[in-house]
Amino acid sequence: MIKEKEKDRAQNRQQPKTENMLIDGKWTPGLRGGVLSVTNPATEEKLAETYDAGKDDVDLAVRAAKKAFDDGRWSKKSPAERAALLYRLADKIESQCARLARLETDNVGKPIKLSQDGDIPFSVDNLRFFAGASRVLEGKAALEYASGCTSFIRREPLGVVGLIAPWNYPFMMAVWKAAPALAAGNTLVLKPSELTPLTTLAFGRLAQEAGIPDGVINIVTGGETAGRAVTEHPDVAMISFTGDTATGAKILGQSAPGLKRCQLELGGKAPFVVFEDADLKAAVQGAVVGAFMNAGQICIAIKRVYAHESIHDRLVAKLAEMAKAAKVGDGLNPDNQMGPVNNEPQLQRVSELIEDARKRGGKIEAGGTRPAGKGYFFLPTIVTGLDDSARLVAEEQFGPALPILKYRDIDDAVERANSSHFGLGGSVWSANRERAEEVASRLQAGTVWVNNHLWLEPDVLYGGIKESG
Ligand code: NAD
Repeated sequence: MIKEKEKDRAQNRQQPKTENMLIDGKWTPGLRGGVLSVTNPATEEKLAETYDAGKDDVDLAVRAAKKAFDDGRWSKKSPAERAALLYRLADKIESQCARLARLETDNVGKPIKLSQDGDIPFSVDNLRFFAGASRVLEGKAALEYASGCTSFIRREPLGVVGLIAPWNYPFMMAVWKAAPALAAGNTLVLKPSELTPLTTLAFGRLAQEAGIPDGVINIVTGGETAGRAVTEHPDVAMISFTGDTATGAKILGQSAPGLKRCQLELGGKAPFVVFEDADLKAAVQGAVVGAFMNAGQICIAIKRVYAHESIHDRLVAKLAEMAKAAKVGDGLNPDNQMGPVNNEPQLQRVSELIEDARKRGGKIEAGGTRPAGKGYFFLPTIVTGLDDSARLVAEEQFGPALPILKYRDIDDAVERANSSHFGLGGSVWSANRERAEEVASRLQAGTVWVNNHLWLEPDVLYGGIKESG
């Protein structure tokens, strides 16, 4: 009898539930009633449902955030008081790291080590960094413009900030966006991706437990309709968006009538330029991590390699060997080094780009297919022999497929690396640091590494140029 009850309970626990939204401190169902499925990409099983918020839900959330801003429950706290609550939130997140990491891996597909040793601790570090930074924001005396008159800069929060996130790093993006906005005294309406909302909702619960006042952090779920409503709402002062370049362009248009400030972090096509004198072992290691981490679904991931013709074949052989040896499978198994891509449309996209590469005479040196069975898996793929017009070279793949291209001289490599309309990240690999730095300075990207790729720290500025935002 007891065993039967336990079985029932276990089955009940596994029933996907409909997650409410956080509005004005209350966990609230959507007004329209429509729901969206949240899927585990490794098993294709439904994990939960979330409400597909409409304009009215977003309006409630913005009103709550505006009330919380206007009455000063957050904005009028001293930076030290805000920092104390944010530090408490960081401690809560840290204490829940294993649970959050598991949820992130279930919903995004990434290896558990990446969630547990990467995303969650990185978020905690960011939150602590911005909590501390809020106490040292400068208000410099700018000018003694006349006898007895001094002008100075006073830092003020803007009001309600709308935060819209993509599916590849849901928890990190939520914290990365929320931390500076909160530290400065703003209140928030946060909309995670409809594909990966679960850890963002968990963030909301932890914020409540940490004592962040009601209405300061509001979380609405849903897709384009909800996102659009956030960007168009007259009481939202600023938008911080991370996602696709085409969506970023739409958001600029949608928020233009209200002349909102927009911070846009968009797509990328990072080049990885390997000189003939590079430490090949280090470059291969860097390329494998930089191209296949999170199954290539990173905006600054390496998306094309330019290898000097004298080392091209050796580099390809080593990369193909490592790609073939990589363990691909459910991220919850700690032995697996790469998980699935997050969703079916993305899997289709990667498959299409590989199909196009094949048609154009590209040589598949490793991978190039899906493994059999369930889940949105695609094997780590290395392709050679393409010209720069192939879709895999010209478009953002956002998946585990890497084209390797030959170059003759460095001017040729720089010109081709810069031919992309993206300008987010890039790296240069050489034993000659001076020469590498000179070439790095010619690459058109917000962040360029030398003998490194992907490394980010909260105190180092990060952003893009051109159509990367
Ligand atoms: P996406 O643009 O499809 O969606 C991002 C978010 O915008 C989602 O929450 C979505 O619901 C919402 N949205 C969609 N249409 C909207 C609209 N009209 N108005 C308001 N919100 C809207 O992006 P994605 O597929 O989730 O993420 C992948 C993209 O994100 C890739 O291009 C990647 O390079 C980019 N990205 C960039 C960075 C960076 O820092 N630059 C980081 C991660 C991902």
